[in-house]
Amino acid sequence: MPEISVKDQVKRLVDLQTIDGQIHQIRTDLTEKPALIEGLKKEFETSKAHFNALTNKLKAIQLKRKELELDLKNNEDQIAKFNAQLFLIKTNKEYQAKLTEIASIQADKSIFEEKILISYDEADLVQADINKEKIVVAAQENRYLTQKKIIEDDIVLLEDRSKVLASQRKQFLVGIDEACLARYERILAHKDGLAIVPIKNNSCMGCHMNVPPQTINAIKTHDQLIICEICQRILYVEDDL
Ligand SMILES: [Zn+2]
Repeated sequence: MPEISVKDQVKRLVDLQTIDGQIHQIRTDLTEKPALIEGLKKEFETSKAHFNALTNKLKAIQLKRKELELDLKNNEDQIAKFNAQLFLIKTNKEYQAKLTEIASIQADKSIFEEKILISYDEADLVQADINKEKIVVAAQENRYLTQKKIIEDDIVLLEDRSKVLASQRKQFLVGIDEACLARYERILAHKDGLAIVPIKNNSCMGCHMNVPPQTINAIKTHDQLIICEICQRILYVEDDL
């Protein structure tokens, strides 16, 4: 194969850059997609955890209420028993003592009853929260699963596109010499998938810094690849190719 001029090498690198730019974009997209799914999953799981916490809270209230109801039942049994004993008491003193005992148990009974009522109110509030959260969780689960499917389909498409581009890329390598390609690929890997850039209005389109006139002249002589002194990317002048 006859040696290819620097000018032609640059032209071919510019074409190669077009396809490499697309490949780089796809790779970036592909690395970001799983995080998107993870983010949605976390949102859903957070809601779900909140929902579960509320459900547990309600169970705890109900359990505590059962205990209170049992306490109340014991308390009432006790009162009934003491009331029955009143009839068997012979002395006034004993009678008064028993009445005092009953009054004390009666006071406990009121406390149990009040706690049970409060427990019902608490349960109602938590139940209302559960009903609200149930809707939120369902919506978020739906959103998560729908988006997950969309993103996964996207990933398949991007991977297919990436394979097509990788195969097309081979054709773009024809005629680029090895050293030149190696240099280009090194820059590509370290400079966000952008290895060769045009100069517009005397500025490098990679880093947007000013390119000195002597550099532009050097490019136009097509003796060798010229790189930007700031961003280290290969430079070319668009209407000079
Ligand atoms: Zn630059």
